Amino acid sequence: MNIREKQEQWEQTYLSKFASLSMNSKGREKPEMPCDIRPIYQRDRDRILHSKAFRRLKDKTQVFFAPLGDHYRTRLTHTLEVSQNARTIAKALRLNEDLTEAIALGHDLGHTPFGHAGEHALDLICSHGFRHYEHSIRIVEKLENKGQGLNLSVEVRDGILNHQTTGRAMTLEGRIVRLSDKIAYLHHDIDDAIRGKVLTEEELPKEFRDILGHDPRSRLNCIIHDIITMSEGKPDILMSPEIEKAMFGLRAFMFENVYTNPKVKKEEKKCKDLLIALFEHYKKNIEDLPEEYQIPIRRGEQEEQVICDYIAGMTDHYALHQFQELYEPKAWSI
Ligand code: MG
Repeated sequence: MNIREKQEQWEQTYLSKFASLSMNSKGREKPEMPCDIRPIYQRDRDRILHSKAFRRLKDKTQVFFAPLGDHYRTRLTHTLEVSQNARTIAKALRLNEDLTEAIALGHDLGHTPFGHAGEHALDLICSHGFRHYEHSIRIVEKLENKGQGLNLSVEVRDGILNHQTTGRAMTLEGRIVRLSDKIAYLHHDIDDAIRGKVLTEEELPKEFRDILGHDPRSRLNCIIHDIITMSEGKPDILMSPEIEKAMFGLRAFMFENVYTNPKVKKEEKKCKDLLIALFEHYKKNIEDLPEEYQIPIRRGEQEEQVICDYIAGMTDHYALHQFQELYEPKAWSI
């Protein structure tokens, strides 16, 4: 018996009866030889971690656009916090931690530069629309690995696709990530909004603070404990009605007071216009796309889709740089 088989046997012995066991995975689209060391979800986690799209998350806006302070979250640190929360819950419930981590690390790969402002811009200009969770799937299925995709398991792709509010993943591990995403951004966006002087702790509604806690750490602790207590031994991921109501109340408060705050959104129109200008430029000058994006066009992929893939993959600074290269005259320097 090799190491992977021993790990799979360990899962079968020690994990909950509701866990997604690696040996029961529905597998990959293209069959592959199993690894002799790592079970399938652990291997998927590693593939995501080694992907280029994962590294680009370090320079993609979470809420605050290209902040000068070093302590604001980026899409990468958000992803790591989601993974941390999700793994804590999965481990406590004896669910599959590798599957949970793989979904968490992959869930936001499809985010555009400039956060949701960028997503709205691409949704406006692409004739087929644009949603980051669908694009995350496109990245892992088609764009990564020089157009070969990462060939991830069915369960990991399902969890990534269904992490948005309206989704419902087929596995409990996927449902944990969906909730952990909300828990993470609620926690850190409040922290960053206080750091950015958009909000003070005391301005958060008292009715929710009295239930969840009076500082970010206590609130995080309260919500995670609630999920673990409510879900233990159950075939679903649950919250108590009181905590759930307070959490979603606080989330609604954040939408009204931070995510749509004119101070926070000040640069948003410029970010959208910049991406629209890039899109229009490449549409008229398809030869300006880098060679790796010319290949899919020669293979018959629609030009508009390829431009969308290129722009969606850009980091904040890369998008700004491309715009400056195209539209900002350079000083004569000889
Ligand atoms: Mg997220």
